[in-house]
Amino acid sequence: MEGCVLVRYGEIALKSDQTRKWWNKILVENMKDCLKRNNISYSKIDIVLGRLIVYTKNPKEASLALKNVFGIKSLSPAIRIEADFELIKENSLGLAKNKGKKFRVSARRITKEFPMTSNEVNEILGAYLKERLDLDVSLLNYDFEIGVELLEGNAYLFTERVEAFGGLPLGVQGEAICLISSGIDSPVAAWLLMKRGCKVDFLHFKITEEGYQKYLRIKERLQKFSYGHEIKDYIIDGVPYLSNTKKKLCNKGKEKWVCIFCKRRFLQEAERICNEKGYLAIITGENLGQVASQTLKNLTLLDSTVKVSVLKPVLAYDKQEIIDIARIINTYDISKEKEPKCPFTPLYPMTTGSVEELENIEKMLWD
Ligand code: ATP
Ligand code: MG
Repeated sequence: MEGCVLVRYGEIALKSDQTRKWWNKILVENMKDCLKRNNISYSKIDIVLGRLIVYTKNPKEASLALKNVFGIKSLSPAIRIEADFELIKENSLGLAKNKGKKFRVSARRITKEFPMTSNEVNEILGAYLKERLDLDVSLLNYDFEIGVELLEGNAYLFTERVEAFGGLPLGVQGEAICLISSGIDSPVAAWLLMKRGCKVDFLHFKITEEGYQKYLRIKERLQKFSYGHEIKDYIIDGVPYLSNTKKKLCNKGKEKWVCIFCKRRFLQEAERICNEKGYLAIITGENLGQVASQTLKNLTLLDSTVKVSVLKPVLAYDKQEIIDIARIINTYDISKEKEPKCPFTPLYPMTTGSVEELENIEKMLWD
C-alpha cells in the first residue's frame, strides 16, 4: 500500500498525442515546483494513461497545494494497491470506517484489464461494506463515497475529490505582461491568462506608496498560482510623467484628458518592454462601462496607441463576477483595502475622445 495523489487533468486529454506529451511534461515540472515551494516531499510523479500519480506520504496536503496548478481538473488523496478484489475489499473497509452512515461506491476502469466491470465492483464492494460496517447504500444522498479507479494492474482507493481550476499548464502559451494596479480587476485578469497557459509578468506604475504596497502583496498571492514561473515585475514611478502631463494639459484647458494620457503611457511602456523582452501580448483589467472612462470609444482609442495585442480578459464580466473570482484567488481582501485616490484624476474625465483629437492635443503639448 502506498500513499499517493491521483491527479486528473482537463483539456490536456483532448489534445493530440504529441501535444499531450509536451503539455504533460510542462505540467509535471509545474507540479514539482509547487511541491517544492510548499515543502512537500514526494518520491516521484508518474504519467499514466489519463492520470498523473504523485507518490507522497502527505497526499492530503499535496492535493491542497497542487489544486492551484493549472491544467489539473481534480485530485484525490489516495492509496495505491494491487488491483486484486480481496485487497480492494480489505483496504476499502479501512477507508470507510467512521465516515458516516450513508455511502456509495464509484468504481471506474481507466484501463480495462480488471476482470469485473465497474458496476460489478460498485455492487459487490458496496454490499460487502454495507454488511461488514452496518452502513446504508445511498446513491444520491450519501455522507461519503468510496472511489476506486482501476488502472494498469493497480487500484487507487480514495474518499475525497478536491476540485482544481482546470485550464492549461502554465507556460504552454508563452509569456505576456500584465498592467497591474492595486485594484480588483487587473489581478483577476492576470490570473485568467495564467489559467489559460501564459506565463505572466507584471508592470506596475507606482503612483502612491499605499497602492504600491498593496500591489506587492497581491503579487505574492498570485505567485501561488504561478508554479513553474517566478513572476518578474517592472516598476515605473508614474508621478513625474503624470504631474508634468497634468500641468501641461491644465495649461491648455484639456485637463479632462489626463486619464487617457496616463493609460496611453502605461501601454507605451508595456509595448517597449514587450519589444525588449519578447512578451507576446499586454494584459489589462479593463472592463466595459465599469467606470466613466471605460467606454468602448476610449478603450479602442487606447488600443490604437500600440501595435502589440492588448488582451482584456475581464472586459465583459459583471463587477460581481470579477469580485467572485478575486475572492477565490485571495486577492480581493487586499484590493478592497482603502488607499488614497489617484491625485491626478480630473473631476470629469474624457469619455468620448477620438484619435484625431488625441493626436492634436499631443502635438500641442510638446510644441
Ligand atoms: P483595476 O481594478 O485593475 O485597478 P480599474 O477598474 O480601477 O482597474 P482603471 O483604473 O481605469 O480601472 O485601470 C484600467 C487598467 O489599467 C487596469 O485594469 C490595469 O490593467 C491598468 N492600470 C491601472 N492602474 C495601473 C497602475 N498603477 N499600474 C499599472 N497598470 C495600471
Ligand atoms: Mg484601478
